Amino acid sequence: MDVAARLDGIRRRLLDDRADAAVVSVNANLRYLTAFDGVIDPGINAVCVITADEARFHTDSRYADAAIAAAAGGPWEIVRHKENLYIELCDGLRAEGVSTLLLEAGVPYGRFKFVSEQFDGAVRAVDQLVEGMRQIKEAEEVGRIAAAAALADAAFEHILRYLRPGVTERDVALELELHMRRNGSEGMPFDPIVAGGPNSARPHAIPSERPLEAGDIVILDFGAKIGGYCSDMTRTVVIGAASAQQRAMHAAVLEANEAGLAAVRAGRPCVEVDLAAREVLQRHGLGDHFTHGLGHGVGIDIHEMPTVGPRSTQSLRHDSVITIEPGVYVSGVAGVRIEDLVLVKESGHELLSHASKELIEL
Ligand code: ZN
Ligand code: ZN
Repeated sequence: MDVAARLDGIRRRLLDDRADAAVVSVNANLRYLTAFDGVIDPGINAVCVITADEARFHTDSRYADAAIAAAAGGPWEIVRHKENLYIELCDGLRAEGVSTLLLEAGVPYGRFKFVSEQFDGAVRAVDQLVEGMRQIKEAEEVGRIAAAAALADAAFEHILRYLRPGVTERDVALELELHMRRNGSEGMPFDPIVAGGPNSARPHAIPSERPLEAGDIVILDFGAKIGGYCSDMTRTVVIGAASAQQRAMHAAVLEANEAGLAAVRAGRPCVEVDLAAREVLQRHGLGDHFTHGLGHGVGIDIHEMPTVGPRSTQSLRHDSVITIEPGVYVSGVAGVRIEDLVLVKESGHELLSHASKELIEL
């Protein structure tokens, strides 16, 4: 991972914003800036401090040893705190002569308020201090995402042999998770969505104790995590023989998925990519049932920049990883979603999801 380039990016921002130091504390940004493996968990108490000539990782004794090991040979100096990290940090920065601090716009308000009160100088929360950089993936980052996508593809193959009438949505969700974790996933980027029959009409249904029945359409939306990077995919299958309506919905969503994929290339406005898929569903009379955006960036977080939707203002950038996930949901009846993960290239895209998208009848 090119940590030096990431630090350069923050230092350019310090110059542009006329600030002396950046204090980064959002979990995914800590992970990105340090590229530490095996240190940063969801409960860590840590900040990265970047000045013109220093890069320090401040944490407490629970994490310090692991951080020292991970930092060996790199630019990060590890600072171990004893009492209150933010109080000691603010006092230390002032003593170094820092008078203007940048914080991320995404920090909890309580933390922003505390630092503002504690630090004897100017504190500003700024948008996209790190998130803009995170959008463009290095080859190693793409490799981790692709490995996570491959785990999810394998879990889909596995679950096809497990799905049958009588198993509950929760059983299926647990089996997906077990399969991915046994095969190396570090955890779940999000709880798997398994939505059968009428539940499939809820885009983010929570798996229930409802047993699957013959004739149910089932949406499976899940991902794995490798080296701190997420994957995300959705497939929709039918338990038993598909009805004509299920077949038609699936065919329309698959056509929209292919149209969305065909529209992907660097420089293309996100709104046009969304529209390419949306128009297909409108043509099939299903436009009103496509009730969410077409996709989102994926990386250390499951939802990152850019947003690919009807109100997006960004354009796609090369080497970003995004989802293409059209869906239609007929309330109380059924839903279908098909989601692929793709790498945006100058001339198009490279698919990272490889599981079959044909209508599978089990
Ligand atoms: Zn998904
Ligand atoms: Zn998604």
